[in-house]
Amino acid sequence: MIVVMKSGAKKSEIQSVLKKIKEIGLKPHVSAGIERTIIGIIGDERLFKKEQFSMLSGVENVIPVLKPYKLASRDFKKTTTVVNVNGVNIGGNNLVTIAGPCSVETKEQLLKTAHIVKKAGAQLLRGGAYKPRTSPYAFQGLGKDGLKILAAARKETGLGIVTEVMESQDAELVAEYADMIQVGARNMQNTKLLRTLGKIKKPILLKRNFSATLNEFLMSAEYLLSGGNENVVLCERGIRTFVEYTRNTFDLNVIPVVKQLSHLPIIADPSHATGRQDIVIPMSRAAIAAGADGLIIEVHTNPAEAFSDGDQSITPSMLEQLMSEVQAVAHAVGREM
Ligand code: PEP
Ligand code: MN
Repeated sequence: MIVVMKSGAKKSEIQSVLKKIKEIGLKPHVSAGIERTIIGIIGDERLFKKEQFSMLSGVENVIPVLKPYKLASRDFKKTTTVVNVNGVNIGGNNLVTIAGPCSVETKEQLLKTAHIVKKAGAQLLRGGAYKPRTSPYAFQGLGKDGLKILAAARKETGLGIVTEVMESQDAELVAEYADMIQVGARNMQNTKLLRTLGKIKKPILLKRNFSATLNEFLMSAEYLLSGGNENVVLCERGIRTFVEYTRNTFDLNVIPVVKQLSHLPIIADPSHATGRQDIVIPMSRAAIAAGADGLIIEVHTNPAEAFSDGDQSITPSMLEQLMSEVQAVAHAVGREM
Protein backbone atom coordinates (compact mmCIF):
# COMPACT_ATOMS: atom_id res chain seq x y z
CA MET A 1 0.00 0.00 0.00
CA ILE A 2 1.22 3.50 -0.78
CA VAL A 3 0.18 6.56 1.19
CA VAL A 4 0.41 9.69 -0.97
CA MET A 5 0.62 12.84 1.17
CA LYS A 6 -0.94 16.09 -0.01
CA SER A 7 1.52 18.52 -1.55
CA GLY A 8 2.71 20.74 1.30
CA ALA A 9 1.68 18.21 3.98
CA LYS A 10 3.07 19.19 7.40
CA LYS A 11 5.92 17.30 9.05
CA SER A 12 3.61 16.44 11.94
CA GLU A 13 1.08 14.92 9.52
CA ILE A 14 3.79 12.76 7.97
CA GLN A 15 4.91 11.76 11.46
CA SER A 16 1.40 10.60 12.42
CA VAL A 17 1.24 8.37 9.35
CA LEU A 18 4.62 6.85 10.23
CA LYS A 19 3.52 6.36 13.84
CA LYS A 20 0.37 4.56 12.73
CA ILE A 21 2.32 2.23 10.43
CA LYS A 22 4.68 1.31 13.26
CA GLU A 23 1.79 0.80 15.71
CA ILE A 24 0.34 -1.82 13.36
CA GLY A 25 3.74 -3.52 13.38
CA LEU A 26 4.70 -2.70 9.81
CA LYS A 27 7.63 -0.93 8.20
CA PRO A 28 7.26 2.51 6.58
CA HIS A 29 9.41 3.50 3.62
CA VAL A 30 9.51 7.22 3.01
CA SER A 31 10.19 8.75 -0.37
CA ALA A 32 10.36 12.53 -0.08
CA GLY A 33 9.85 14.03 -3.53
CA ILE A 34 10.11 17.68 -4.53
CA GLU A 35 6.31 17.98 -4.80
CA ARG A 36 5.04 15.55 -2.23
CA THR A 37 6.01 12.77 0.15
CA ILE A 38 5.05 9.18 -0.59
CA ILE A 39 5.09 6.55 2.15
CA GLY A 40 5.23 2.86 1.32
CA ILE A 41 3.77 0.43 3.84
CA ILE A 42 5.86 -2.70 3.70
CA GLY A 43 4.56 -5.96 5.09
CA ASP A 44 1.38 -8.00 5.33
CA GLU A 45 -1.45 -5.88 3.87
CA ARG A 46 -4.07 -7.98 5.65
CA LEU A 47 -3.04 -6.35 8.94
CA PHE A 48 -4.75 -3.01 8.24
CA LYS A 49 -7.52 -1.27 6.35
CA LYS A 50 -7.06 1.47 3.76
CA GLU A 51 -9.34 3.78 5.81
CA GLN A 52 -6.94 3.73 8.76
CA PHE A 53 -4.72 5.93 6.62
CA SER A 54 -6.99 7.67 4.13
CA MET A 55 -8.75 9.46 6.99
CA LEU A 56 -5.58 10.88 8.57
CA SER A 57 -4.98 14.55 8.02
CA GLY A 58 -2.57 15.51 5.23
CA VAL A 59 -3.20 12.26 3.33
CA GLU A 60 -4.31 12.69 -0.26
CA ASN A 61 -4.69 9.11 -1.38
CA VAL A 62 -4.00 5.51 -0.38
CA ILE A 63 -3.19 3.23 -3.30
CA PRO A 64 -2.81 -0.54 -3.18
CA VAL A 65 0.25 -1.89 -5.02
CA LEU A 66 -0.94 -5.01 -6.73
CA LYS A 67 2.46 -6.08 -8.00
CA PRO A 68 4.46 -8.41 -5.77
CA TYR A 69 7.42 -6.02 -5.89
CA LYS A 70 6.59 -2.81 -4.07
CA LEU A 71 9.67 -0.65 -3.50
CA ALA A 72 11.01 -1.53 -6.96
CA SER A 73 7.79 -0.54 -8.71
CA ARG A 74 7.09 2.68 -10.55
CA ASP A 75 3.81 2.93 -8.64
CA PHE A 76 5.88 3.54 -5.56
CA LYS A 77 8.31 6.00 -7.15
CA LYS A 78 7.51 7.86 -10.36
CA THR A 79 10.90 9.37 -11.09
CA THR A 80 13.75 7.18 -12.32
CA THR A 81 16.29 6.46 -9.62
CA VAL A 82 19.75 7.87 -10.21
CA VAL A 83 22.53 5.83 -8.63
CA ASN A 84 25.81 7.59 -7.97
CA VAL A 85 28.90 5.41 -8.36
CA ASN A 86 32.12 7.19 -7.50
CA GLY A 87 30.71 10.45 -8.90
CA VAL A 88 29.20 8.83 -12.00
CA ASN A 89 25.41 8.96 -12.24
CA ILE A 90 23.54 5.94 -13.60
CA GLY A 91 19.90 6.49 -14.54
CA GLY A 92 19.99 10.15 -15.56
CA ASN A 93 20.10 11.53 -19.07
CA ASN A 94 23.79 10.64 -19.42
CA LEU A 95 24.63 7.08 -20.37
CA VAL A 96 27.29 5.17 -18.48
CA THR A 97 29.88 2.81 -19.94
CA ILE A 98 31.51 0.26 -17.66
CA ALA A 99 34.37 -1.52 -19.40
CA GLY A 100 37.26 -3.82 -18.57
CA PRO A 101 38.33 -7.43 -18.63
CA CYS A 102 36.14 -10.32 -17.54
CA SER A 103 38.78 -11.27 -14.93
CA VAL A 104 41.56 -9.41 -13.20
CA GLU A 105 44.55 -11.46 -14.42
CA THR A 106 47.71 -9.53 -13.51
CA LYS A 107 48.49 -6.03 -12.29
CA GLU A 108 50.10 -5.13 -15.63
CA GLN A 109 47.09 -6.38 -17.61
CA LEU A 110 44.58 -4.50 -15.48
CA LEU A 111 46.46 -1.19 -15.31
CA LYS A 112 47.07 -1.23 -19.05
CA THR A 113 43.40 -1.99 -19.72
CA ALA A 114 42.25 0.66 -17.23
CA HIS A 115 44.15 3.36 -19.12
CA ILE A 116 42.73 2.12 -22.46
CA VAL A 117 39.20 2.10 -21.07
CA LYS A 118 39.59 5.60 -19.68
CA LYS A 119 41.02 6.95 -22.94
CA ALA A 120 38.07 5.45 -24.84
CA GLY A 121 35.69 7.43 -22.61
CA ALA A 122 34.30 4.75 -20.29
CA GLN A 123 33.56 6.07 -16.79
CA LEU A 124 33.86 2.92 -14.70
CA LEU A 125 36.22 -0.07 -14.72
CA ARG A 126 35.01 -3.66 -14.45
CA GLY A 127 37.04 -6.73 -13.56
CA GLY A 128 36.23 -9.91 -11.65
CA ALA A 129 38.35 -11.02 -8.70
CA TYR A 130 35.88 -13.74 -7.68
CA LYS A 131 34.75 -15.62 -10.79
CA PRO A 132 31.75 -17.94 -11.03
CA ARG A 133 33.06 -20.49 -13.54
CA THR A 134 31.23 -23.43 -15.06
CA SER A 135 34.25 -25.67 -14.60
CA PRO A 136 35.99 -26.15 -11.25
CA TYR A 137 39.24 -26.51 -13.22
CA ALA A 138 38.92 -23.08 -14.85
CA PHE A 139 40.55 -19.90 -13.48
CA GLN A 140 38.57 -18.88 -10.39
CA GLY A 141 39.91 -15.34 -9.98
CA LEU A 142 42.66 -13.80 -7.83
CA GLY A 143 40.41 -13.09 -4.84
CA LYS A 144 41.70 -10.44 -2.45
CA ASP A 145 44.85 -9.88 -4.55
CA GLY A 146 42.54 -9.05 -7.46
CA LEU A 147 40.69 -6.51 -5.33
CA LYS A 148 44.00 -4.84 -4.45
CA ILE A 149 44.90 -4.62 -8.13
CA LEU A 150 41.52 -3.02 -8.86
CA ALA A 151 42.13 -0.46 -6.11
CA ALA A 152 45.55 0.32 -7.61
CA ALA A 153 43.89 0.90 -11.00
CA ARG A 154 41.38 3.29 -9.42
CA LYS A 155 44.23 5.18 -7.77
CA GLU A 156 46.06 5.53 -11.07
CA THR A 157 43.10 6.39 -13.31
CA GLY A 158 40.39 7.71 -10.99
CA LEU A 159 37.94 5.20 -12.51
CA GLY A 160 35.41 3.71 -10.08
CA ILE A 161 35.52 -0.07 -9.71
CA VAL A 162 32.74 -2.59 -10.47
CA THR A 163 33.45 -6.11 -9.24
CA GLU A 164 31.50 -9.23 -8.33
CA VAL A 165 30.87 -10.78 -4.94
CA MET A 166 29.79 -14.42 -4.87
CA GLU A 167 29.36 -15.16 -1.16
CA SER A 168 27.96 -13.29 1.82
CA GLN A 169 31.13 -13.93 3.80
CA ASP A 170 33.14 -11.86 1.27
CA ALA A 171 30.66 -8.98 1.10
CA GLU A 172 32.40 -6.72 3.64
CA LEU A 173 35.77 -7.26 2.01
CA VAL A 174 34.53 -6.62 -1.53
CA ALA A 175 32.64 -3.53 -0.32
CA GLU A 176 35.91 -2.14 1.07
CA TYR A 177 37.43 -2.11 -2.41
CA ALA A 178 34.51 -1.79 -4.83
CA ASP A 179 32.56 1.33 -5.79
CA MET A 180 29.80 -0.89 -7.14
CA ILE A 181 29.23 -4.52 -6.20
CA GLN A 182 28.09 -6.89 -8.93
CA VAL A 183 25.68 -9.72 -8.15
CA GLY A 184 26.25 -12.16 -10.98
CA ALA A 185 23.54 -13.95 -12.95
CA ARG A 186 24.11 -17.18 -11.05
CA ASN A 187 23.53 -15.45 -7.72
CA MET A 188 20.48 -13.39 -8.64
CA GLN A 189 18.33 -15.52 -6.35
CA ASN A 190 20.90 -16.09 -3.62
CA THR A 191 18.59 -14.50 -1.09
CA LYS A 192 21.14 -14.69 1.73
CA LEU A 193 23.61 -12.71 -0.36
CA LEU A 194 20.90 -10.22 -1.34
CA ARG A 195 19.95 -9.72 2.31
CA THR A 196 23.59 -9.15 3.25
CA LEU A 197 24.01 -6.60 0.44
CA GLY A 198 20.79 -4.86 1.46
CA LYS A 199 22.56 -3.84 4.64
CA ILE A 200 25.66 -2.58 2.83
CA LYS A 201 25.39 0.95 1.54
CA LYS A 202 27.29 0.40 -1.70
CA PRO A 203 25.64 0.57 -5.15
CA ILE A 204 24.69 -2.86 -6.48
CA LEU A 205 24.71 -4.05 -10.08
CA LEU A 206 22.11 -6.83 -10.13
CA LYS A 207 22.41 -9.09 -13.17
CA ARG A 208 19.43 -11.04 -14.41
CA ASN A 209 19.72 -14.78 -14.16
CA PHE A 210 19.60 -16.52 -17.54
CA SER A 211 16.36 -18.29 -16.63
CA ALA A 212 14.71 -15.57 -14.57
CA THR A 213 11.33 -14.12 -15.43
CA LEU A 214 10.97 -10.37 -15.21
CA ASN A 215 8.97 -10.81 -12.04
CA GLU A 216 11.74 -12.88 -10.41
CA PHE A 217 14.32 -10.29 -11.51
CA LEU A 218 12.41 -7.43 -9.90
CA MET A 219 11.71 -9.49 -6.77
CA SER A 220 15.46 -9.94 -6.33
CA ALA A 221 15.83 -6.16 -6.54
CA GLU A 222 13.07 -5.95 -3.92
CA TYR A 223 15.26 -7.97 -1.51
CA LEU A 224 17.98 -5.32 -1.80
CA LEU A 225 15.59 -2.36 -1.52
CA SER A 226 13.59 -3.77 1.38
CA GLY A 227 16.87 -4.58 3.13
CA GLY A 228 17.72 -0.88 3.06
CA ASN A 229 19.93 -0.49 -0.01
CA GLU A 230 18.29 1.85 -2.53
CA ASN A 231 21.25 2.04 -4.88
CA VAL A 232 20.33 -0.72 -7.26
CA VAL A 233 21.06 -0.85 -10.99
CA LEU A 234 19.60 -3.73 -13.01
CA CYS A 235 21.47 -5.45 -15.83
CA GLU A 236 20.12 -7.50 -18.74
CA ARG A 237 22.82 -10.00 -19.74
CA GLY A 238 20.96 -12.49 -21.92
CA ILE A 239 18.70 -15.43 -21.23
CA ARG A 240 18.79 -19.07 -22.25
CA THR A 241 16.71 -20.06 -25.26
CA PHE A 242 16.87 -22.73 -28.00
CA VAL A 243 19.13 -20.45 -30.03
CA GLU A 244 22.60 -21.96 -30.48
CA TYR A 245 24.47 -19.34 -32.54
CA THR A 246 24.94 -17.05 -29.54
CA ARG A 247 25.87 -17.87 -25.95
CA ASN A 248 22.58 -16.39 -24.72
CA THR A 249 19.66 -14.54 -26.27
CA PHE A 250 19.78 -10.82 -25.61
CA ASP A 251 16.33 -10.00 -24.24
CA LEU A 252 16.16 -6.41 -25.45
CA ASN A 253 12.39 -6.41 -24.89
CA VAL A 254 12.97 -6.34 -21.16
CA ILE A 255 14.60 -2.90 -21.26
CA PRO A 256 11.55 -0.77 -22.17
CA VAL A 257 9.31 -3.04 -20.07
CA VAL A 258 11.49 -2.59 -16.97
CA LYS A 259 11.32 1.16 -17.61
CA GLN A 260 7.52 0.98 -17.45
CA LEU A 261 7.33 -1.21 -14.36
CA SER A 262 10.25 0.00 -12.27
CA HIS A 263 12.03 3.24 -11.40
CA LEU A 264 15.38 1.44 -11.21
CA PRO A 265 17.97 2.12 -13.92
CA ILE A 266 18.80 -0.76 -16.25
CA ILE A 267 22.01 -1.26 -18.19
CA ALA A 268 22.84 -3.92 -20.79
CA ASP A 269 25.66 -6.44 -21.07
CA PRO A 270 26.03 -7.34 -24.77
CA SER A 271 29.24 -9.29 -24.00
CA HIS A 272 27.57 -12.07 -21.99
CA ALA A 273 24.28 -11.72 -23.87
CA THR A 274 25.92 -12.64 -27.17
CA GLY A 275 29.16 -14.41 -26.23
CA ARG A 276 30.52 -13.21 -29.57
CA GLN A 277 33.10 -10.47 -30.04
CA ASP A 278 31.88 -9.81 -33.60
CA ILE A 279 28.37 -8.75 -32.58
CA VAL A 280 29.04 -6.85 -29.36
CA ILE A 281 29.13 -3.49 -31.19
CA PRO A 282 25.82 -3.79 -33.09
CA MET A 283 24.05 -5.13 -30.00
CA SER A 284 25.46 -2.27 -27.92
CA ARG A 285 23.90 0.16 -30.38
CA ALA A 286 20.63 -1.77 -30.16
CA ALA A 287 20.58 -1.73 -26.35
CA ILE A 288 21.00 2.04 -26.23
CA ALA A 289 18.34 2.48 -28.91
CA ALA A 290 16.01 0.35 -26.74
CA GLY A 291 16.50 2.74 -23.83
CA ALA A 292 19.22 1.17 -21.67
CA ASP A 293 20.90 3.55 -19.22
CA GLY A 294 24.33 2.28 -20.14
CA LEU A 295 26.52 -0.67 -21.05
CA ILE A 296 28.91 -3.07 -19.39
CA ILE A 297 31.49 -4.34 -21.87
CA GLU A 298 34.29 -6.89 -21.66
CA VAL A 299 37.56 -5.64 -23.16
CA HIS A 300 40.90 -7.42 -23.45
CA THR A 301 44.22 -6.37 -24.97
CA ASN A 302 44.65 -9.92 -26.28
CA PRO A 303 41.28 -11.72 -26.28
CA ALA A 304 42.83 -14.99 -27.52
CA GLU A 305 44.88 -15.19 -24.31
CA ALA A 306 42.19 -14.03 -21.87
CA PHE A 307 41.84 -16.16 -18.69
CA SER A 308 38.03 -16.05 -19.13
CA ASP A 309 35.46 -14.98 -21.74
CA GLY A 310 37.99 -14.27 -24.50
CA ASP A 311 35.42 -15.17 -27.18
CA GLN A 312 33.27 -12.22 -26.28
CA SER A 313 35.95 -9.72 -25.28
CA ILE A 314 36.45 -6.84 -27.69
CA THR A 315 39.83 -5.28 -28.43
CA PRO A 316 40.80 -1.73 -27.41
CA SER A 317 40.29 -0.43 -30.96
CA MET A 318 36.84 -2.04 -31.09
CA LEU A 319 35.99 -0.26 -27.84
CA GLU A 320 36.84 3.07 -29.45
CA GLN A 321 34.62 2.22 -32.41
CA LEU A 322 31.84 1.09 -30.06
CA MET A 323 31.97 4.34 -28.10
CA SER A 324 31.69 6.54 -31.18
CA GLU A 325 28.88 4.49 -32.77
CA VAL A 326 26.93 4.24 -29.53
CA GLN A 327 27.30 7.97 -29.01
CA ALA A 328 25.56 8.62 -32.34
CA VAL A 329 22.67 6.34 -31.32
CA ALA A 330 22.52 7.98 -27.88
CA HIS A 331 22.06 11.39 -29.49
CA ALA A 332 19.41 10.00 -31.83
CA VAL A 333 17.35 8.87 -28.83
CA GLY A 334 17.88 12.06 -26.82
CA ARG A 335 20.58 10.82 -24.45
CA GLU A 336 24.06 12.17 -23.76
CA MET A 337 27.27 10.20 -23.64
C1 PEP B 1 30.81 -11.43 -15.59
O1 PEP B 1 30.37 -10.26 -15.54
O2 PEP B 1 31.95 -11.71 -15.94
C2 PEP B 1 29.86 -12.53 -15.32
C3 PEP B 1 30.26 -13.69 -14.81
O3 PEP B 1 28.58 -12.20 -15.64
P1 PEP B 1 27.21 -13.05 -15.50
O4 PEP B 1 26.99 -13.22 -14.03
O5 PEP B 1 26.20 -12.18 -16.16
O6 PEP B 1 27.42 -14.36 -16.20
MN1 MN C 1 32.69 -12.55 -18.09
